[in-house]
Amino acid sequence: MAIEPSIAALPQRIERLAELTYNLWWSWHPQGRDLFRMLDYGKWKFSGHNPVRILREVDPERLRAASTDPEFLALYDTVMDRFDADMAGRDSWFAARHPNALSGPVAYFSAEFAIHSSLPLYAGGLGILAGDICKEASDLGLPMVGVGLMYPQGYFRQRISIDGWQEEVYSRLDFEQAPLLPVFSPDGKRILTSVRLGDRRLFLAAWQVRVGATTLYLIDTNVEENSPYDRDLSARLYIADREVRIQQEIVLGTGGVRILRALGVHPALWHANEGHTAFMMLERLQEMMAAGTPFDRALELVRSTTIFTTHTPVPAGHDVFSIESIDRYLSDHYTGPGINRDSVLRLGRSHYQDGGFNMTALALATSGHCNAVSRLHGAVARRMWQGYWPQAKREDDVPIAHVTNGIHVPTWVDPEMDRLFQRYLAPDWIDRHDEPELWAGVADIPDEELWRVRSRLKMKLVNFILELAQRGWSSRDMEAQQVVAMGALLHPEILTIGFVRRFAGYKRPALIFQDVERLKRIVGNPWHPVQIIFAGKSHPADSPSKWSLHGVCTSAADRDFQGKIAFVSDHDMHMAHYLVSGVDVWLNNPRRLQEACGTSGMKASLNGVPHLSVADGWWHEAYNGCNGWSIGDGAQPASPEEEDRVDAESLYRLLEQEIVPLYYDRDLNGIPHRWVRMVKEAIRSVVPAYCARRMLKDYTNQLYLPRETVQCAGGPPDRSSLPSL
Ligand SMILES: *Cc1c(COP(=O)(O)O)cnc(C)c1O
Repeated sequence: MAIEPSIAALPQRIERLAELTYNLWWSWHPQGRDLFRMLDYGKWKFSGHNPVRILREVDPERLRAASTDPEFLALYDTVMDRFDADMAGRDSWFAARHPNALSGPVAYFSAEFAIHSSLPLYAGGLGILAGDICKEASDLGLPMVGVGLMYPQGYFRQRISIDGWQEEVYSRLDFEQAPLLPVFSPDGKRILTSVRLGDRRLFLAAWQVRVGATTLYLIDTNVEENSPYDRDLSARLYIADREVRIQQEIVLGTGGVRILRALGVHPALWHANEGHTAFMMLERLQEMMAAGTPFDRALELVRSTTIFTTHTPVPAGHDVFSIESIDRYLSDHYTGPGINRDSVLRLGRSHYQDGGFNMTALALATSGHCNAVSRLHGAVARRMWQGYWPQAKREDDVPIAHVTNGIHVPTWVDPEMDRLFQRYLAPDWIDRHDEPELWAGVADIPDEELWRVRSRLKMKLVNFILELAQRGWSSRDMEAQQVVAMGALLHPEILTIGFVRRFAGYKRPALIFQDVERLKRIVGNPWHPVQIIFAGKSHPADSPSKWSLHGVCTSAADRDFQGKIAFVSDHDMHMAHYLVSGVDVWLNNPRRLQEACGTSGMKASLNGVPHLSVADGWWHEAYNGCNGWSIGDGAQPASPEEEDRVDAESLYRLLEQEIVPLYYDRDLNGIPHRWVRMVKEAIRSVVPAYCARRMLKDYTNQLYLPRETVQCAGGPPDRSSLPSL
């Protein structure tokens, strides 16, 4: 197989390491990780867990030694056997339950995919979800191909300046060191297809990322045949410039369909993850009409094979383009036989922002099945889009269902928690983790043992942060004050709260600073101190968000907080693993009804970190009174200021009266039994219900396999603002 071009010759006995290196399957299998760790621990650590780099840089002598080391070979054989079984999908859930139910794969389109930190093609939760879905599809044997964009500069890396401001650093991805392979057409060509953008023709190539049995295709505009401007079109993720944005979305939607066609991939179903991808439906409509199918019939056919998931009630998450730019870039979509500009424009006519072409409206009009991402978000989305279905008399008649998001458990479980679960739940718990009964076994874990693991995970997090601080200090990249602000004074025995997420305004990162004096008393309590770790990025064009990030960084450097507030820069998936398992409490305080689901709290609960959250998104349905805490009183606030005041008061009260006392209530051996009970209930109640396995089974049973579609009239009446519930 000449598919792994950049890797040196491997000894024959272990030559399939190359194949494994280029399939991120290894990343969610502990023995897969062990194999590369064992090969070269130093390179494993300093490459940020990147086997492509390890194999490129490892000493050939070490490879020869590994190829005759019985211990290494035993592990190698075990891993390759499991890999082959998973790739064949023989015993999978989908093969057993739904044999031959799909004539081809589900094509899953998304603007971002977070598979592994060696591929920085994501900004936040939307990408993590897409990555987790690809992995779970592989685990369940559900045939899937992902389609996304190759961003050679990805999302930015975050630096914090000495005066506490975010600086964005863009660096080019080193393709040689990433688990990416170029894709060639069946006749050996690198350029697979092209799209027209107004009067230009843009040529498209693709890369593939193997995610177990799922293949992810990433479209690249950086080919010699394109102009320099066009080569950089997909350079960066979530560019603010509207002109670039619409062109990127055409490349993703239109180009994505054409790339699959060029590769001979025949999807049975098309799943649009968020409205950014909706030109995919327009392209398929166009294909059918070009083949002579009348508009109404073509629309019906497209809808019967399309699933659309909407992810946010926040207006910035819904792209609206001007009619002029639609005319400029897409006019060739309605100049063919039987195609009419008005009927296309009507599909995307804006619902609550007059005059524009709304990508969510387009997606709703061209999908037979639509869903929101939590129960509460379902209600919000039905209200938000009710005007789009004139025949829906009540909000409940609006055909937007919900499938609550979940996390890919093998990716997010810490290895030490994994070992506990193996011991006290079942050795094969990972294969059955969506069975609620299995989790009753959490009660059998001795408190001492669970507490010991929890304490070690916090120590691991503190060590991780200290190492970053030490590196910043000794490379002369940071001054003393910055080293302190990023957490050099954190203490592993103090109750630690994590606030880790994008610094979007609706997530209210600075809420806990509403009453600074009260917060100082909470963190500075000499007997029962508290420390708070912040991490997350601001979108480069979002200045209110940058100001609040600056505020947090300033507090982190403020001596009155005694080094107990930290801001750790450059949050990514790698750091997320340490944070979701290493803190004691996971804080989430969005403005209510704006966090469609959220997933980081699920990762925390899985690892025994209870959730302290506003009853929004998934927490609205998951909170049961003893698996974490709920902030606020759920009442409709009179104003945003009122909401901030009420929620901050509730947050302080929970900390002062419940969380801090519970955490520090110890027996003679220092074990907080009542706290551990809460930890166990968090794990028991959250994991089976909020895992990607449950989610993808729901998608399959509720949205992929039932094939009758709902009716959508399109054509919106006026509604001027975001509704409230
Ligand atoms: C899980 C995760 C998120 C999602 O965070 P939410 O605020 O819960 O939506 C974002 N970024 C990274 C790196 C994650 O791992």
